[in-house]
Amino acid sequence: MTCLVTGAGSGIGRAIALAFARERAHVIVNDLPSSPSLAALCEEIEALGARCTVAAGDVSDPARVRGIFSNIEQLDVLVNNAGILQESPVTELTDAAWDSMIRMHLYGAFHFSREAARLMKQQHSGSIVNIASDLGQIGCENLSHYSAAKGGIIAFTKSLARELAPYGVRVNAVAPGGVITPMVEALGERYIDEEAARYPLKRLGTPDEIAQVVRFLNSGAASFMTGQIVGVNGGGVMNG
Ligand code: NAD
Repeated sequence: MTCLVTGAGSGIGRAIALAFARERAHVIVNDLPSSPSLAALCEEIEALGARCTVAAGDVSDPARVRGIFSNIEQLDVLVNNAGILQESPVTELTDAAWDSMIRMHLYGAFHFSREAARLMKQQHSGSIVNIASDLGQIGCENLSHYSAAKGGIIAFTKSLARELAPYGVRVNAVAPGGVITPMVEALGERYIDEEAARYPLKRLGTPDEIAQVVRFLNSGAASFMTGQIVGVNGGGVMNG
């Protein structure tokens, strides 16, 4: 099994890459070229007996994404996970900040999915999981650009699921609630406590709790699931 994980250098992406490594998959790990942690992650993956390939690059750069795929002949799993978070009231939000948020999340998922879909259509198999967010479902003050990008990823997931289903390719999304990662830790302890209070389970999740669900969605156990937005959110959003 060959799996590609974007934003694998930290937090949730790192946990997903390690979960695939425990299955002895060939894990292709992407993050920004400036990421200091990809080499160490690869060592950890190889220590688990799995193969690792580094494919560094900015997900919002389509030429770089094409370059990454020029070295991939077969792909079973793509996880679009790379993300950034930056708070701003909408009245202070510059065009540049809006653009870079949408470009990083929505264009990033589009660039990788387009290349993966070309391969997976030929293979007549494959699975794509997009990491969305509960904020793409319920919205959030001071995060309108982030929430809009994640809402876009949810609609993109459902559209791809319909388009690729005839080729035996499944596309799902995981919409995490708050998860303790460097992205959230950067917002401070008070933010984490306030965040935890809004979830029925009264805590934030761990990266591994997201990784386990991603792993499930890419396994044969989820063979009848496509176009689903799976909430892993301590009960913060209850759909159905
Ligand atoms: P993180 O900051 O720990 O990791 C994100 C990784 O993405 C980093 O290694 C970063 O370098 C990489 N990245 C950023 N921009 C990139 C780019 N242009 N190209 C390639 N890589 C890039 O954050 P995390 O919390 O692990 O977030 C992972 C995903 O989960 C994100 O999509 C985030 O929006 C989503 N998410 C996180 C939470 C949470 O509470 N942590 C909640 C819901 C959704």
